[in-house]
Amino acid sequence: NGTVHFDDVRFAYDPSRPILKGLSFEVPAGKTVAIVGPSGAGKSTISRLLFRLYDVSGGHIRIDGQDIRDVTQNSLRAAIGMVPQDTVLFNDTIRYNIRYGRWDATDEEVEEAARTAQIDTFIKASPKGYETEVGERGLKLSGGEKQRVAIARTVLKSPPILVLDEATSALDSHTEHEIQGALERVSQNRTSLVIAHRLSTIVGADEIIVLDQGRISERGTHAQLLEHG
Ligand code: ADP
Ligand code: ADP
Repeated sequence: NGTVHFDDVRFAYDPSRPILKGLSFEVPAGKTVAIVGPSGAGKSTISRLLFRLYDVSGGHIRIDGQDIRDVTQNSLRAAIGMVPQDTVLFNDTIRYNIRYGRWDATDEEVEEAARTAQIDTFIKASPKGYETEVGERGLKLSGGEKQRVAIARTVLKSPPILVLDEATSALDSHTEHEIQGALERVSQNRTSLVIAHRLSTIVGADEIIVLDQGRISERGTHAQLLEHG
């Protein structure tokens, strides 16, 4: 379970300016679908609609066949792990930030989540390890590192569906490589929708959907899209 289905979804923040103009796609259970496209195309809007920060203006979004309008906010929050673009962390330890919302998790589970999100290496490199503080008084984390802490938190919660809005900020190639590795591990066997800002991190997606002005302009695997130019 965990199938996500967008069925002719329409949406406008402002009625005079449609953002999504009849969007249909499916993320089959356990698969990874990536949404790419130019800035302003409506990519992040898709993740906001799935999390029901806004309601669709037309069409349906279904999870396992059920319209999300008929699902309680609590069940929706439990079903979807959302890693937003700009992750805000608590000014506390990395361990606290990973464990947040899963206070029953064992240290082993927290460490496993950190490994999956590939933040264990930089954590180990810091003198106090997991106890290193995230905020001003402690270690300064880059955007990509913060996002991986948030990924680890989501992994620990283990929701059936993962929505990841990639950081838009420019990443150095090393960080990009680490994000790609984290993404591949995290999305394995989990229904994943990745709002992608760079093609290089989503080479392994089962399907890539190219969004342009609120419509799908192309879709296929990474290799298929490269073939078509
Ligand atoms: P993308 O993620 O592809 O860059 P977004 O989904 O963030 O695009 O935005 C799509 C369009 O909707 C943009 O033109 C943006 O200016 C507009 N937009 C985004 N958020 C809002 C909002 N809260 N209110 C009004 N317009 C918005
Ligand atoms: P993104 O996820 O792409 O950063 P934002 O929510 O920051 O999306 O919005 C993207 C664009 O939409 C920005 O240019 C912003 O100015 C515009 N926008 C965001 N919120 C609103 C809003 N409430 N009304 C009008 N425009 C908005």
